[in-house]
Order: sequence, then structure tokens, then C-alpha cells
Amino acid sequence: MFNTLEFIERKRDGAGHSEAEIKAFVNAVTNGAMPDYQLAAWLMATYFNGLDDEEIASLTVALGHSGDVMSYPASLHVVDKHSTGGVGDKTTLILVPLAAACGAKISKLSGPGLGFTGGTVDKLEAIPGMDVHLTTEKFYSQIDKIGCAISGHSLQLAPAEGKFYTLRDVTGTVPSLPLITTSILSKKLAGGAAGYVFDVKCGSGALMENIDRALELADKLVSVSLRLGKKSSAVVTDMEQPLGEWVGNAVEVFEAVQVLSGAGPQDTRELCCALGGQMLLLARLAKSAEEGSVMCARSLDDGSALKKFAELIEAQGGVADVCYNPVEILPKAAYLYEIISERDGFLSMLSARPIGVGLRALGGGRIKQEDIIDGAVGVRLCAKIGDKVKKGSAVLQVLYNSESQLHSALPYLSTCFEVADKADKRKLILGCR
Ligand code: URA
Repeated sequence: MFNTLEFIERKRDGAGHSEAEIKAFVNAVTNGAMPDYQLAAWLMATYFNGLDDEEIASLTVALGHSGDVMSYPASLHVVDKHSTGGVGDKTTLILVPLAAACGAKISKLSGPGLGFTGGTVDKLEAIPGMDVHLTTEKFYSQIDKIGCAISGHSLQLAPAEGKFYTLRDVTGTVPSLPLITTSILSKKLAGGAAGYVFDVKCGSGALMENIDRALELADKLVSVSLRLGKKSSAVVTDMEQPLGEWVGNAVEVFEAVQVLSGAGPQDTRELCCALGGQMLLLARLAKSAEEGSVMCARSLDDGSALKKFAELIEAQGGVADVCYNPVEILPKAAYLYEIISERDGFLSMLSARPIGVGLRALGGGRIKQEDIIDGAVGVRLCAKIGDKVKKGSAVLQVLYNSESQLHSALPYLSTCFEVADKADKRKLILGCR
């Protein structure tokens, strides 16, 4: 018989849990036998005393199997990618068709944006007609037919993890590394892929604000995946400033189309080729990540990745012509406001977090899950850290639909940057595991 109080006391006193105890614990949480106040106490004990890799693996499996578990034939080597979340992070929109165009089978279950970071589902919903809530049958058959699918999370995937996450959010226990690892990996496990590529964001616009913590999370994700019999790799990337040129929903689809056409901002392309190379290695289509990156660059330049994106959009009911006429098809905001540099110099700060918060104030993100977002609003980053800026030139362009929303966003957007006499460009890829 599982004793909830003794279980909490063991972790409070720094002892470990067996696999059987963890299984019983997750069952007790799932069937309501363990009330929220006891789970909250255990979360805090874990925040302070941690979990070893064996405990992390056991908790991941128990959470991952608390609902539906997707599965694919092993021969397909279905690969998944996961970003720990950032501002302007449109890599999923690019990587999924890119890796599929190179022959990989890609399964991508994405969440909506919450907090100051955007969500892939919201971005895709800016494309008219796009269905981002596929049934499991449709999801499987689309991967089989065209090699890739992107859909919102079903509520039935790792439902117990949802309960843990909601309580972590209100008990100050989100930053626990073992709990972040189990949270991410349990959902990946339920998603059924054979291997994962993690993009661990690092910087003031990310959950991991410093490089040591980001590398530690990258190590944990890779080592625990291996324990669970899954191959994975992790790339640690800069999130001190947003990725690319655009932050928003329709505008990030626009940037994705640019990159898939062989153009677009260099940082977005570089990251997609780096992550894509890792995905092709895991999918056994490249002998090394470097070879995979070269295959990805070729696919961006020869139009095959863009063609695959058009196929994916069409398969999910969207207007595929967005790939060839994005400006005509995507929703547009009514007004433009420019935030100007007051001096000559070099951009020395372009803080991701206030830009994400500013976009949300414009209506482009949610505060509550049920908020309806405005897909057309966005922010254009006219310069990135290290770029020269001139007095009187725009640093940010704001696309907006309502004066009151612009006024709520301006305190964030007009203070998110600094211009100095000198500033170096930032490195994008900070480590690889
Ligand atoms: N992303 C997740 O899915 N879970 C966390 O705990 C943190 C980031």
C-alpha cells in the first residue's frame, strides 16, 4: 500500500525513491488519491533535494505512460525536435518540412504559446484554413504519406505531467532541473518518436538564463533519453536576443517561408541547418551532423524544403499558396509604428523577454489559455546586437491593430534595446551535446 506521507518524508530527508514507489506515486496523483497539497510538498522537497538519473527516468516513464502513447514502426526512425522555448523561435515551421524534404519522418506535437514565448500552433493558425488539431489517425497517415505532420498536443498525452506542471507553476518549483527534464521527456516519450533533437535556449529570454544551467539541462536530456533507449542530441543556443528578424505569428510564418526559399535572416538559417543536421543524423540519413547540415542547406536552396512545406499546409487544409505569395495570403495589421534610435552607435542590447511581453500586450500572445490572439500583429527587429545603427533610424517596427494595445506594448518595446559606442555580435550556437 502506497503511503503518501512517508513518500514525501523520504524526499524531504534526501532519500531516493524506487521505480515501484514512483509508479505508485504517479498513479496516486492521476487517480486523485494524492491531493494537490501533498504533491506540492513533494515538489518542493524535490526542488531542494533533487532526483538522481534513475529516479528521473522512472518518473519520466510513469508520467509519459499516464495517458495515450503514440507509436510508429521502428523501421521508420521517426524523429522529433523540441525547443525549450524562446522569442521569435520559428524553427519548427522550417525544420519539420526541411528534414522531411531530406527524407526524414518527422512527428511534431506542439503546444500553444503561454507566457512571453510564442507557440508553433498559434503561428500555423495564422495560415488561412490550417488545421492544427489533427486526430491521431490523420497524424499517423500524414506522416506515412508526406513524411511530416505538426499538430497541437492531445489532452490525452501525458495528462499527469499537465497536473505536475500546473502545480509547479504556482509553487515556485518550475526551475528544478530534474523536474524540467521529466516534464520535457515524458511528453516526448508519449509522442512515440525514436529519437529527439533538443534546442536548449539560453539567455535572459529563456528558462535557462546562464550557460552552465543550459549545458546541465542539455546533458540531462541526452543522458536520460539514452537510459530510456532513445537516441538524442542537444544544441544550446542563444536567447539573449530573439531569433531572426520577426516576432509574431503571421510574420514568423513569413520569415519561415523566406528561409525555406533559401533567403531570410542568416541566424534563423544557421540554426535550422544545425538542428536539421542533427535530425538527419538521428534519422540515419546522414553520416555526421555536418553532412546533415549540408543536405539541409541544399534543400533550402533548391526549393524542395519549401515544396514540402506547401505539401504539409495543403494536407492540413491550409492555403498552400502562402509559400509563394505570403504577403497576399497572411493576415496584415492595420498600422505601423517605428521605434527610433536616438544616437549613432552599435546595438548592444536587444532583450528577448520584453519583446515577447510587448508582443503579448499587442494581442499576439496569451495571458490566459482561453485568450484569443491576433495573428497579424508583430515586431520587426531592424537591427541585431552588434549591428551599426544611425540616429533617427528605426530599431524596431511595430505592426499593430489597436492604439490602446500599442500603448500597453510601448513601455516594453521602447526599453528593450540599448545603443553603445561599441558592441560585438553574439554567437548563436553555444554548445552541443
Ligand atoms: N518545457 C516543458 O515542457 N517543461 C518544463 O518544465 C520547462 C520547459
